[in-house]
Formats: sequence, C-alpha cells, structure tokens
Amino acid sequence: MSLFASPIPWFWREAAAWGDAGQMNDTIHEPARDLPVIGDYDLCVIGGSCTGVFAAVRAARLGLSVAIVERMGSLGGVATLSLVNVWHSPYDEVFQRRIFRGLTVELIDRLRERGAVRERDRDPSWAWAFNSAEMQIDLDELVAEHGITSWLHVLFSGPLIENDRLVGVAVETKSGREAIRARFFIDASGDGDLCTRAGAETYRASRHQPATACALFGGWDGLRDTDWQGLLRQHGCEFGLPEGFAWGAMVPDSEAYMLAATRVHEDCSTATGFARAEVEGRRQVRAIHDLLRKYAPAARLSLLALPARIGIRETRHVRCLHRLTGEEVLYGRRFSDAIANGSYRVDIHHADKPGITFRYLNGSEVYARPGYADVCSRWRSASDENPTFYQIPYRSLVPVSPHGNLLAAGRFIDADEQAHAAIRVMVNMNQTGEAAGAAAFLALRDNVPAAQVDLEKLRSTLAEGGSIMI
Ligand SMILES: Cc1cc2nc3c(=O)[nH]c(=O)nc-3n(C[C@H](O)[C@H](O)[C@H](O)COP(=O)(O)OP(=O)(O)OC[C@H]3O[C@@H](n4cnc5c(N)ncnc54)[C@H](O)[C@@H]3O)c2cc1C
Repeated sequence: MSLFASPIPWFWREAAAWGDAGQMNDTIHEPARDLPVIGDYDLCVIGGSCTGVFAAVRAARLGLSVAIVERMGSLGGVATLSLVNVWHSPYDEVFQRRIFRGLTVELIDRLRERGAVRERDRDPSWAWAFNSAEMQIDLDELVAEHGITSWLHVLFSGPLIENDRLVGVAVETKSGREAIRARFFIDASGDGDLCTRAGAETYRASRHQPATACALFGGWDGLRDTDWQGLLRQHGCEFGLPEGFAWGAMVPDSEAYMLAATRVHEDCSTATGFARAEVEGRRQVRAIHDLLRKYAPAARLSLLALPARIGIRETRHVRCLHRLTGEEVLYGRRFSDAIANGSYRVDIHHADKPGITFRYLNGSEVYARPGYADVCSRWRSASDENPTFYQIPYRSLVPVSPHGNLLAAGRFIDADEQAHAAIRVMVNMNQTGEAAGAAAFLALRDNVPAAQVDLEKLRSTLAEGGSIMI
C-alpha cells in the first residue's frame, strides 16, 4: 500500500509498530547465506574511539595483526565525533603522584607538536583541552604506523559462531553484508553491541546518565562579560530547554568554543531512541543559540559545527567477573589485578533533577546547577583517611560469556551507577583499552581464555609498554 493511501500519517503508523524497547513488533525472514570474508586477523576491535584504538595499538605493538571496525567515518569516538575535547588529570586527587601515562600521554604529545592542545596543571576539571579535528588525523596516523586496518563506515551487526566458538563478526559495509574473521575480539563499542549479541548478560542502570549534543560556536568571546549560564536558567523554559548542566572549552588553535549544554533523556542503544536523541539534541542546540541571540545579541554568536554523533554517557553494561562499586571507587580500594588508575571525581548528571553532583575522594560533595550557587557538603566524615586515586580491576573487563576470546573495554564495563559516574571519563577508558589489547595478546600467546590470563604478566606487560601499574 502506498504511504499516502492510509488516512493515518505514515510517521504515526510507523511509531505504532515499534514497541517501548525500540523493537519492531513483527518479523521478516532473512534467508541464511554464506558471507564473503573481507579480512582475517589475530584481533578484531569493535569501535574506534581512543579506547578501541589504544587496544589495537597495544596489541599490534606486541605483534598481533589487528583490525578496527568503526561505524562512523573517523576514529576517536566521543573525543572527535561528539566534539568532547577535554581529558582529565594524570595525577592523583592531590596532584602529588602520577597515576597514568601510556598512549593517552603519547597522543597528547603528538597534539602538542601541532599546537593542538592547551594544558592546565592542578585542575580537577580538566588537564588537557584539545582540537578534535587534529586528533582525528593523529589517530589515522597512529593506526597506519602500526599496520592496523581501520574498517571505517563499517557497522558491526552480529557475531559469527562456529562450533560454539566466536570466529568472526558480520558487518554492514558499502558493499553489503560481509564478514571479518579473527581469533580474538574486543568490544569497545560503548554500548556493548558485540557482548550483548554474543550472549553475554547485560543490565541497565536504573537511571542512566543523559546524552548531550555538543556544538562549536564562533563569537563566544563576545559573552566574556555575560552570565550566559544565568541567561540559560532564566529563559530556558521559553525556548523549551530542560534545566541541566552547561560547560564548555575553547578549541585550541581556533576561534571556536565547544559548548556542552543540552540534555537528552533517550535510550541511545535502541534504533528509535538513538534517532530521537540526535534530533532532540540538535533542536536544543538551536534553542540555546536562539536564546543567546535574543538575550545577548551583541555577542553575534554563530553556529560553526554540530557533532557527527550525539555524545552518549551511558546505555547498557555487561556483567563481568567483578562489578566495580561506588564504594570501591570512593574508598580507593586497591586490586591485585588493577589495570587502570583514576582520580576524576564521581560526576552524576542527574536523570531525575537538574544539575550534577560531584563527589570527591577527599569526602567533599558539591551539587552544581547552572545559574545557582553551588551547594557544598560532605559525603564522608572529615576525620576519615582519604584515598587519592581509585583503580579498575581487569576482572571488570572480562564478560561472563560463553566465549573466552572476548573482552570488554570502555564505558559499558561492569560498574554500578556511582562507579560508572567516575570511571567513564576518557583517560580511564583509554587505559581499559590498553589493558584489553595486552590481555588479548597474552590470551592468544598462552592459548587461554580471557578469564585465565596471567595477571602478573598482564600488569608487567602493560608497565613495559609505558603504563603506570600501582
Ligand atoms: C557530552 C559529554 C561530555 C563528556 N565529558 C567528558 C569529558 O570532559 N572528559 C572525558 O574524559 N569524558 C567525558 N565524557 C565521557 C566520555 O566521553 C565517555 O564515557 C567515553 O567517551 C566512553 O568511551 P568509549 O570508548 O566507551 O565510547 P565512545 O567514545 O562512545 O566510542 C564508541 C565507538 O564505537 C563505535 N561503535 C558503536 N557501535 C558500533 C558498531 N555497532 N559497529 C561499529 N562501531 C561502533 C562508535 O561509533 C564510537 O566510535 C563525556 C561524555 C559526554 C557524552
């Protein structure tokens, strides 16, 4: 029937056919067929953010042949595609002890050579603000130098299992549906797409953190003497803006300001939720632009760029051998299988009220809401001893799954709401990627499943490769 023959508009009919979870309540049979294999590797990494790229580079440096499958046209994930251009401190919370190095610092060194990074010492809010466009090209160069194949504009769509073993992935490319074969897999897709479809158990936080569409603006300097956060609070309603949290950073070596001020409550791991989130994120960007044009016209702001993909903070998580808890993070628990160290505060973008709550390892807590004074309190008694950094154990990367040749890295690793709110920042996720890459090498070399990788050897391999192991 023609789209136009029904008295019900097509978009209502389409919406009615989709269930709450974003699944179509109907099926069409797809005949089974053999897929052409377009590549055969030791390791295949799904997702090309810095998490995935660093996993790939670590494994390649140890001698594995590696491919990255990335559904977008460039590497870098949220740091590039979603314009989020800020990384956090390599020191502990009191800035006394260096807690990570590795590929994060190597990449910053490359950006520094091009004048594409600004640096701040002793600031808990950020250590490095970088130019995301420069980073995209640096990542292309980094993977090329290591002989890694980047399959760009290639979407992972399903696991390929033979004799109960994960042997490949089905991918959608410009040429159609094809296959990539590998001996080991790292899921760095942010949403755990491979783990979920390969049968690992996943779960969702009761209130997942909202997504944000960032944007680049020109003319921001004109707002220097304007309380633009106050304007957003005062007039947001008039422009249909939810009250949330707003921050930003100048893009080094440019006139552009990266603004992160939208707040979208959709489940971006479903087709419908993801699409709605993109449209709503862009609507909010325009609403902010219009609001500031009306109430701060002298600034003459211009919209320079939108993200290639909305920034996603959280969707699902995968159940692993260990669920990292907020208590373990906030009390700085040490793990014998620690593979990452972090000091970024617990940072909860509330799903059920405006603003965000920061919880620090030193026991202090701040509730921040744009346009209002910060509310400061303590979540722990002042007399308690304070840790200065926390750790992520390797076991939180090992999915409980039928497949021993599969690891998780990135924001969907096993962490409760509060732990996730701290560890999700990129400098931490980058370290999970590096660890997964080294673990993949050891698992293949020793012919053992991911859960049986020699943990001492893993930590020493990471240390030899430039990571700080504590
Ligand atoms: C607005 C915003 C602000 C933030 N601010 C900061 C900040 O200031 N500093 C900070 O460090 N962190 C910040 N974060 C958090 C941080 O960006 C994320 O937690 C982190 O990027 C997660 O990294 P990831 O590698 O797990 O996922 P992503 O960066 O989301 O990368 C996943 C990659 O996998 C690809 N992919 C997904 N599915 C598939 C598939 N099926 N096939 C192929 N490829 C696929 C995606 O295209 C993407 O490239 C912010 C997040 C948001 C949204």
